[in-house]
Amino acid sequence: MHLRVAVSLPVTGTYTYALPEHLKAGALVGCRVMVPFGKRRIAGFILEQTPASPQEGVKEIADLLDDEPLFTEKMVPFFEWMARHYVHPVGQVIQAALPAGLNANPLKTTVLTDKGIEAANDRHVALEERRLLEWIAKHPGRRPSAPYAQLVRLRNKGWIDIREKDRPAAVGPLMRKFVGPAPGQALQPLLDGKMGALKAKNEAAFLETIFHAESTLLSDITACFSNGGYLVKKWVGRGVLECGSGAVYRNPTGGFISPPPVPEGLFEQQEHALKAIRGALNKNAFSTSLLFGVTGSGKTEVYYRAVKHALSQDRQALLMVPEISLAIYIEGLFRNRLGDQVAVYHSGLGRGERYDQWMRMVRGEVNLVIGARSALFAPLPRLGLIIVDEEHDSAYKQDMSPRYQARDLAVVRGRTEGATVVLGSGTPSVQSYHNAVLNRYHLLSMPERIERRPLPDIQVVDMKPPEDKRGEQTILSPLLLEAMGENLTQGDQTILFLNRRGFHRLFICPSCGESVRCPNCEVALTHHLKADRLTCHYCGYSSRTRVSCPSCKGATLKTYGFGTEKLEQALNEQFPEARIARMDTDSTRRKGQAARILKQFADRETDILVGTQMITKGYDFPGVTLVGVVAADLSLTFPDFRAGERTFQLLSQVAGRSGRGSRGGRVIVQSFNSDHYAIRMAVGHDYKGFFEKEQDLREQLGYPPFSHLACLRLKGSDKGRTEKAAHGMGESLRRILDGWPKRGREIHVLGPIEAPLPKLKGKYRQQLLLKSGNASLMRHLLERVVERSRRQFRSEGVHLVVDVDPYNMS
Ligand code: ADP
Ligand code: ZN
Repeated sequence: MHLRVAVSLPVTGTYTYALPEHLKAGALVGCRVMVPFGKRRIAGFILEQTPASPQEGVKEIADLLDDEPLFTEKMVPFFEWMARHYVHPVGQVIQAALPAGLNANPLKTTVLTDKGIEAANDRHVALEERRLLEWIAKHPGRRPSAPYAQLVRLRNKGWIDIREKDRPAAVGPLMRKFVGPAPGQALQPLLDGKMGALKAKNEAAFLETIFHAESTLLSDITACFSNGGYLVKKWVGRGVLECGSGAVYRNPTGGFISPPPVPEGLFEQQEHALKAIRGALNKNAFSTSLLFGVTGSGKTEVYYRAVKHALSQDRQALLMVPEISLAIYIEGLFRNRLGDQVAVYHSGLGRGERYDQWMRMVRGEVNLVIGARSALFAPLPRLGLIIVDEEHDSAYKQDMSPRYQARDLAVVRGRTEGATVVLGSGTPSVQSYHNAVLNRYHLLSMPERIERRPLPDIQVVDMKPPEDKRGEQTILSPLLLEAMGENLTQGDQTILFLNRRGFHRLFICPSCGESVRCPNCEVALTHHLKADRLTCHYCGYSSRTRVSCPSCKGATLKTYGFGTEKLEQALNEQFPEARIARMDTDSTRRKGQAARILKQFADRETDILVGTQMITKGYDFPGVTLVGVVAADLSLTFPDFRAGERTFQLLSQVAGRSGRGSRGGRVIVQSFNSDHYAIRMAVGHDYKGFFEKEQDLREQLGYPPFSHLACLRLKGSDKGRTEKAAHGMGESLRRILDGWPKRGREIHVLGPIEAPLPKLKGKYRQQLLLKSGNASLMRHLLERVVERSRRQFRSEGVHLVVDVDPYNMS
């Protein structure tokens, strides 16, 4: 047999290796291996077992690194598709999909157990094994040179523990002590005093507890019986009980917002949508549906029933949400109804937790995985249903290499694994709705809110100051203030949305107009009140606030603009009696903080919640009757063809948080551009109007979904070299295209230009944009240039980033 292996190096393609006899048993797809590569030995992943063909020079696998697979065989075509599409080495794609800590190149270490020490001195143990145990005893924490399979045999005999060297305590199973009855022991004789009188008052209860279960966590015993430790020791000493250690899964749930009651039945529109999804599941083949349900139409309940149906078919489900705090919130709801077969998976979990959840998944112990972007890779062996909630959300785009779009990939994974895919949103992305119009996706509509509750009434306030008041800054309009006051008096809740964190936006010099900028990024610094620092939101650079003008050295800088922190302060002054909370990246940095803020709001311990786009997503707070959008225009100023789409979605989503209870709701939108179509259509709850307008614009300008884009960004600390590399790249792209007489004209190369953020984190930035109607042709072009250029630029200190289907071109 031969193996096809993806090595974890920046190289395209996979390599074939032969399998030596002694490793034959365990070489499964999804396991890591050590292979010779050039003069080195490197790690890789087994992608395929193929019959051995008489090829020349096929090298042998050097070692096997796992005794169980880390991903399923069905995921291989998915990984390979992803590697091709994003022009990224497949070994590194897989590495990025695995939980951190499961390195492609694990440094496994070994330690002897108590039993192992005995075995090392036991003449009945084979000499070879004893030698190995002795070596391990002398070199704790090192990797013996013996093949991994042999180490696994020792571990299975209980003689050694094998750990990954990278943070041994956090990654790898959590070992706990258990206690249980020794073989052949019975409870009754003990209670009858046959083994000696029971002295302690609670001794009978103690023994009953332990004999009742097969094995009990020692920590549970000591929690229930204050003398538990003593009693365990006593009865273990008499041979009645036995202690042992075993792996337990860490429990990542924290107990959150109490989920809404389980509804007795579905409403008609929900029934309709569910029927279609059930039909798709019954066909047992790939299909994609777009569930277009306005905010508050009850999508979650449809998801739940769809998941139930998949589980009843003995298949598994994956439910993705755009944000970690939303995953936590949805998980509460599902775990409440489905119990322990639910796992959460997102980057907010600790390393150990992620590892545990991952292994539960590959082993098939989980039936539903709920998570954010990275849950896309959940290694479920019988995946039947993939749901992407809030599919329009740009958080599905990963901003680090490999720069993938998890919603797009969910559809690909559905196709490669024969699963039913459901994309859900109240404001579908232009791309998904376009696909529905073209009948690539089934469109399922839920146009009404639950119980026919009306969508909230939206009012727009024009914030342009009158002529005589230019230069003065109003944060909150009288209309919004008055509405908030009323809401407070009535004991209702308010959400205020402002998509900018921090305190003051800019420190500006009144005499020369210059602002204080980040030395690494050339963007304006933001004032953070609590820390009293000026901070860069791109690189984290911070400086003290008492600075003078960088250009004229004037000392009195004027502050201008405002962020959430300033807004919170203004509200505290305005409504001293109100209970106000703020939710943004700054206030939720510590683990558990986001959940706490949300829980307090859900429990109505907070009157006003101020926040960035974090609070606009799918939460259901029935007590909210007023939503204020403080500055609707912010997202319009992004240098991005999706600015209009993003603005429409943000406004509609945040407005959708209002009036979800029985009391109705209103929304007040403050804007400088109230005529902009994205704002007008959001105010009118007119998705179709917006879509048609946006579609026309995109078609005229040749933007997605009418074309495919790829952004090539070059970053370097030397300005001249970076520019030179960008020009060289542009030339070689054009040269290749000139050599393709017909098809060359199907791809446009734009640039190189200086990126909209010309300097970031100390690096100068240049970019090229490729635009084409033909995705595979573009991929072909990229494959020709990317790998070679990467290598060449690296020697010049320039880094090349390839962003296929880019979302952020600043
Ligand atoms: P969406 O995700 O579409 O914005 P949700 O799923 O949050 O909407 O549902 C809105 C509210 O309606 C929730 O409070 C939910 O509990 C409730 N709900 C959903 N379906 C039903 C139903 N069939 N009967 C009663 N209440 C329902
Ligand atoms: Zn910076």
